Amino acid sequence: MKNLYQLLPAIHELQANTEFEQFQKKYNVDKEYLTNILRDVVSNIRNEIVNGEWNESASSKEDMVRFIYRKSEEELEHSTNYYLTKTINATGTVLHTNLGRARLSDEAIQHVVEIAKGYSNLEYNTKEGIRGSRHSIVESLLMELTGAESAMVVNNNAAAVFLILRALANSQEVIVSRGQLVEIGGSFRISAIMEESGARLVEVGTTNKTHLEDYENAITDSTSMVLKVHTSNFRTIGFTKTVDISELVTLKQKKENLVIYEDLGSGVLYDLKGHGIGDEPVIKEVLAKGVDLVSFSGDKLLGGPQAGIIAGKKEWIDKLKKHQLARVLRVDKLTYAALEATLFSYLKGSSIAIPTIRDILATEEEIKDRCQQFVACLTDKINHYHIELRKEGSPIGGGTMPGVEVPTFVVCLKHPKKTAIEIATMLRQQSTPIIVRIKNDEILLDFRTIQQDEIEEIAVAFVKIDKKPQD
Ligand SMILES: *Cc1c(COP(=O)(O)O)cnc(C)c1O
Repeated sequence: MKNLYQLLPAIHELQANTEFEQFQKKYNVDKEYLTNILRDVVSNIRNEIVNGEWNESASSKEDMVRFIYRKSEEELEHSTNYYLTKTINATGTVLHTNLGRARLSDEAIQHVVEIAKGYSNLEYNTKEGIRGSRHSIVESLLMELTGAESAMVVNNNAAAVFLILRALANSQEVIVSRGQLVEIGGSFRISAIMEESGARLVEVGTTNKTHLEDYENAITDSTSMVLKVHTSNFRTIGFTKTVDISELVTLKQKKENLVIYEDLGSGVLYDLKGHGIGDEPVIKEVLAKGVDLVSFSGDKLLGGPQAGIIAGKKEWIDKLKKHQLARVLRVDKLTYAALEATLFSYLKGSSIAIPTIRDILATEEEIKDRCQQFVACLTDKINHYHIELRKEGSPIGGGTMPGVEVPTFVVCLKHPKKTAIEIATMLRQQSTPIIVRIKNDEILLDFRTIQQDEIEEIAVAFVKIDKKPQD
């Protein structure tokens, strides 16, 4: 043990090694960062020696230095990895909340890169040579796409709900149906957000039924708003009644300045129900019914970046734009760039360029073709798995379209010795994590959300796992 100690170099000796400079260059780290890593590695080796756990061979100081640098290299590769990493979504859920919801289109990515690289006219009106407003960037696009008088963008839809309540209903009453006091993933509750905003919640109706009279009877001198919340992530069936927004707007005759607001949750610009997928109302149709304000997410069915979009009557949106919170909740130029490009795709009629729309509309044949390509990649390379192609359904996800599944094809894999959970764990721990579905102790790969260039990568991971000996 004593001899081994004597082999450990001092830090200044390690720094004098030619590799010290090479590593700094190769990993783009400074002297201090590299020194700390070397120090940690030496300290770990010392501990291993003390505890009798050291089982490497080193017979000279040079051997030890080489070993320390090899270990440091592993550390460097690991420590310079980003936390945020590309992940393969093999679940078939297009809007997977844990996996970042919507993917951006190529156009949106290009626009983001261009705007990120240089200066931009974010708040500069280049035509007039005067200060501009970032609100103008996508407002006219949104007006054209939704038919709204005015529109604005905030950080996310939760922020939109908060801003609207705070700016237009602070210290006043807001009427909501008991059937719509929803909780959305990540413990966002309408009732809690309302309390934070300073608005007073007035609940009407029952869990399953609310009538127009229920709202009407609840209107007082202190009422400022009627809020309808789209029940995005659950469904009430059976003996139920909700009041359509077209009926709610008639309440405006009962009280001056009453704001009728619908939180649409996802909100769609592309008519998916026209393809027989779900029954999400198209935003333009909702606004045409005379509602004052709607809000919806940028990264749900719209298929853009995280954002909260507010559209509706100019009178109210002007107030929102001027509110102090608008500054607090504002979005950055990268979000505007991505959103602008996404909205342009809708305007040009090329919504199919938006990955969310394209993936939801992908046909069984397309998906089956990807399944077959995957199976072809595995042929002759693996011995153990039982592989089968099967018809299945993909949920849409992102707290949208509850109970809706679009027909898909999946590859089911079963291993005689390894459980589905064990395989899923190993797939998750690949350098590019692969997230799968498990059903009846089988791994299901739903190729709806798997990109062409990921097919081979997944096959390689399966081959690797197949070869891995049993623990
Ligand atoms: C998803 C959702 C929200 C929150 O939207 P984020 O963009 O995630 O902040 C709010 N209300 C409803 C009804 C939703 O479905």
